[in-house]
Amino acid sequence: MNSDESKLVFVATSDLAGLVRGKSFPVSEWKKRSLRGVGWTPTNVQITCFDTIADSPFGSLGDLALIPEAGTRFQMGDPGNALDIALGDIQSLEGEPWDFCTRSHAKRALRELHELAGATVLSAFEHEFQLKDGPARPGDSFGLKGFRDGQAWAEALIAELDRTSCKPDTFMKEYGPSQYEITNKPATGITAADNAVILRILTDDVLHRFGVGSSFSPILDPDSVGNGVHIHFSFIDDQDNPLTHDVADPHGMSALTRHFIGGVLKYLDQIMALLAPSEISYLRLTPHRWSAAFNNLGYRDREASVRICPVSSRDSEAIARQYNFEVRAVDAAASPYLAYAALLFAGTQGVRDGLEPPAPTEEDLSLLGPEALAERGFRRLPQSLKEALDTMDRSQSVRSWFGDEFVNVYLDHKKQEMTELEGLDWQEKCNLYKEVY
Ligand code: GLU
Ligand code: MG
Repeated sequence: MNSDESKLVFVATSDLAGLVRGKSFPVSEWKKRSLRGVGWTPTNVQITCFDTIADSPFGSLGDLALIPEAGTRFQMGDPGNALDIALGDIQSLEGEPWDFCTRSHAKRALRELHELAGATVLSAFEHEFQLKDGPARPGDSFGLKGFRDGQAWAEALIAELDRTSCKPDTFMKEYGPSQYEITNKPATGITAADNAVILRILTDDVLHRFGVGSSFSPILDPDSVGNGVHIHFSFIDDQDNPLTHDVADPHGMSALTRHFIGGVLKYLDQIMALLAPSEISYLRLTPHRWSAAFNNLGYRDREASVRICPVSSRDSEAIARQYNFEVRAVDAAASPYLAYAALLFAGTQGVRDGLEPPAPTEEDLSLLGPEALAERGFRRLPQSLKEALDTMDRSQSVRSWFGDEFVNVYLDHKKQEMTELEGLDWQEKCNLYKEVY
């Protein structure tokens, strides 16, 4: 074997724990492996983010294939330490998508919306992260000094992203201590969620090369701000015409947009366990942290779970193309594929049923009591992972979208994860998640 042939290709899956796991094979076998994949074990689905194994319906039985998708393949790392990597789908040996393959769920959700409404989704996942041992300088929110601290690794990261499907957009020093935000350009179809996986992989890898530890964990300190993942959505038709905007609507929403958001908000509490799937996620999702605490639609409001984003353009065609909304109730403990699938299923249900969202808010909902909230169609989102899991457990809708077996396995998975946290205080829990995500 020459040195090229001994190079490995890593096939990656983003699993129920929201982590990237996988296997590799020699690059010389790419052709064969891109058809056959690498062997995968059903019980792997129950490996929690702490590497313990939850109750599994599969035990030691069964075989699957993790199949790399050629279009996702990219090179990461320095030339001296490069890795050839591709994202993949988990299939049965007969070639059917496996019921627990997160990426396959998201692909199916995208297909269903397209079949129903002729809409292709354009999305971008906006990520915040923090340095593990970063200097917490006072006066550093959105600051130039903090930006300069990160500029060298940020530019290396941007260069690496640019070689993938995840095209960089903006980078900044965020509000929180050692907190940064990176955004990328929207992409259609499953590529949008692939890009979120790629962005997390490369951020971790590039910063590590610079000797900097980083974490996308939902919150590092119970008393500080969290790290959000905001998923931006817009729609186009098969001829690339924008479908999201309608100038006749007071807030610019097309009927498709209204119904989709109507579905997301109706089912939001039922899918929270998939969007914000760790115990500490619920420290972040509290009022006044600029995250999301209610199932409301906000007009340019950064505390709404769904926010209509501002457009900077003046001409109507450009507005229609720029117009988008973001879902803010997501974090990086969730696999991008599962969070995406859940939002797409909920939104598509809204389109199917012609649901309308409640009127957009421009106020502080935490000042309203439960009756006043209910009168206007708002609910406080679940306040703990346990509450989110119980709400999902009872949801016939989530069960119909993902399948009963998937929901039951997911509930067992998360229960096992929670047992690892028993007896710890909140800061100790944050410390554990900080190392995982
Ligand atoms: N850090 C906030 C979050 O947890 C978001 C702040 C912002 O970018 O508006 O979602
Ligand atoms: Mg931000």
